Amino acid sequence: MPACPIPTDEALRQRTLEDMNLLDTPAEHYLDTLVRLTQELAQVDTVLISLIDQDRQWFKARIGLDASETPRSISFCGYAILGDDTFLVPDAEHDPRFADNPLVLDEPHIRFYAGHPLRAGNGKAIGTLCMFGPRPRLLSQAEQTNFRDLATLAEGYLQLRSLITRNRDLRQQMDREQRKALLDPLTQLWNRGALTAFQAHEQRLAMENGLQLGALFADLDHFKAVNDNHGHAAGDQVLCECARRLRAALRPDDLLVRQGGEEFVALLRVKDDEELKRIAQRVRQLIAGTPLQLPSGPLGVTLSIGCTLLSAGEQIDAALARADSALYAAKQGGRDQVVYVPPGS
Ligand code: GH3
Ligand code: MG
Ligand code: MG
Repeated sequence: MPACPIPTDEALRQRTLEDMNLLDTPAEHYLDTLVRLTQELAQVDTVLISLIDQDRQWFKARIGLDASETPRSISFCGYAILGDDTFLVPDAEHDPRFADNPLVLDEPHIRFYAGHPLRAGNGKAIGTLCMFGPRPRLLSQAEQTNFRDLATLAEGYLQLRSLITRNRDLRQQMDREQRKALLDPLTQLWNRGALTAFQAHEQRLAMENGLQLGALFADLDHFKAVNDNHGHAAGDQVLCECARRLRAALRPDDLLVRQGGEEFVALLRVKDDEELKRIAQRVRQLIAGTPLQLPSGPLGVTLSIGCTLLSAGEQIDAALARADSALYAAKQGGRDQVVYVPPGS
C-alpha cells in the first residue's frame, strides 16, 4: 500500500490549519447537524468532518464511527485534499491505492468512499467532508451535487467560525496540548478539568455582560440498567447521543462538560433563575421527548437535573455541590425533572 501523498504546499497548509484553532476542540451542534443530514440524504453509514493534521486525521464531527482520529498515512482524506473536486473511490477493494489498507481489510471495512476538500479562507485544504460505507457504490450526479453543496456549507461554517473566534474566545486560545487534555474522547465534550480551567473566564464574561452564572448538573436516569440490558457499547452510544442532544439544547457559548460517567455539567450565562430553569427544561425535554435510535431498536432515556445560580465570586465547586443536592432532590422526586435551588441555600 502506498503511503498517503503529502501536498506540495504542506508547510503553509499545516500552519493554516493550526491558526484556525479547530484541532482538539469540542464537537459543535451545527456540525453535528450537518454530518447527520449528510448521512440521512446520502443514506450512508459514516460521515466525518476530518481535519488533516501532520500525522493524523482528527474528526471535528463524526457520525457512524467511534474513533476520534486515525493515522494520516492510511487515510483516504489525505488523497481527497490533493484535488479540487470530490475524490471518489467506488470500490476500495479494487483500487491499488487502498486494496490492502487496514481501514479496508479491518474495521470499518471501507469499500465506498467520497471526500470533498474543505478550504480555509486562503485556499489551503485543511480537511474534508467525507462519507464511506462497507459496500461498493457509485454516486449519481444528483448525489454528487448534494454532497458538494453540503461541503460548501461545512467549509463556510469553518471559515466564519475562525474569523469570529480568532481574538475573542479564551477557550480557544490555549495551546493544543492543553486543550487536548481537557477533551473527553467518547463524547467530544470538555471533561471536568475544563470547569476549573474556564471558570474564572466564564465569571468575568458574565460580569462584563451584566449576567449571572448558572450551573446545571444533569445525570441520566437508571443508566446502569442500559448497560445491564443492552451492553456497555450500547451504553456508550447512549452517552454520545445524549451529549449531542445536550449540545443541541444549549446555546453555542454555554460551557458543557462530561463531569464523569453519565453526569454532565453546564455553565451558562443567564439573566436570572427563570432563564436558567427554562434552558434546563429544554435540555430535559430534548432527551425525554424522542427515544434514542440504537441498533437494537428505540430506547427511551430520561435525565434529572439540579441547577443553581452562582453567587458573586463563588467558586464553581461550591455551586456544584448545591446543584448536586438539587439533583438528588430531582431523583427523589421521581426523576425526569428539574429542581432549582437558589444561591445561599
Ligand atoms: P440513577 O437514576 O440513580 O442515576 O441511576 P443510574 O443507574 O443512572 O446510576 P448509577 O450510579 O447506579 O450507575 C451509573 C452507571 O454508569 C454505572 C457505570 O457502569 C456506568 N458508566 C459510567 N461511565 C460509563 C461509560 O463511559 N460507559 C458506559 N457504557 N457506562 C458507564
Ligand atoms: Mg450518576
Ligand atoms: Mg444516573
